[in-house]
Amino acid sequence: MKTNELIHEDFKRCVDFHGHICGGLAIGYRAAQEGLLWLKEHRALDEELVTIVENDACGVDAVQVLTGCTFGKGNFIYRDYGKMAFTFFSRKTGKGVRMAPVDRGFAPDPEQKALFEKVRSNTATDEDRKTLSELGRKKAEAILESPLEKLFKITPAQVPIPEKARIHPSILCDRCHEPTMETRLENIDGQKICRGCQEQGAQHLNN
Ligand SMILES: [Zn+2]
Ligand SMILES: [Zn+2]
Repeated sequence: MKTNELIHEDFKRCVDFHGHICGGLAIGYRAAQEGLLWLKEHRALDEELVTIVENDACGVDAVQVLTGCTFGKGNFIYRDYGKMAFTFFSRKTGKGVRMAPVDRGFAPDPEQKALFEKVRSNTATDEDRKTLSELGRKKAEAILESPLEKLFKITPAQVPIPEKARIHPSILCDRCHEPTMETRLENIDGQKICRGCQEQGAQHLNN
C-alpha cells in the first residue's frame, strides 16, 4: 500500500492539472485510485485500459491524470448521465469495475454554492475567493480520508467492447465551407450542413 505522503504526491499532480483543490477532484482521485487497484487485483489492468465517466465535472481531471486515459487517445469515454460515476475496464476483455457515488455527501454545501455564484458573476472579493478555496481544501481532505464504502458503491462491470474511433473523410459543409467529418453532416433540403451551422440556425429561430 502507498503511504499517505505518496497519495498526496499523486493528488498534487491532479491539483496542478485541474488548477484548484476541490471536493470533486478528490472524488475522481479516489475513484481512479481504487479502480486501478481493483483492476490490478483482478488481473484486468493492461495497456488497453478504458475509462467511462458519467459527468464532465472537476473529478474527471483527476481520472485523466491517474489513469492516463484521454479523449485524444480514444480511451476516455464521456456519457452525459449527470452522475459522479466512473467505470474502468480492459478493452481486451471488457472486464472492469464501476464506482458509483452512494450519496451526495461530497456535493458543495450552501456556503460554497453562494461563493461559486459570486465568482461566476464576477462579484467575489479576494476574501471570498480565499474562503472558497479553503472550503474546497477542507472538503477534499475529508474525502481523501473517508472510508471508501462511504463514498462509492463498487460493482464489477462487464462492458461491451467499444469500437476504436474510426476516422472518416472530411468534406465541406455547404454553409460555412469548413471541412467536416462526413458522418457529422446532415442532409437538409439537399444541402450537407454541419452541426455548428445547424445550431446557429436554431438560435436564429429562437431569437
Ligand atoms: Zn474543481
Ligand atoms: Zn457549417
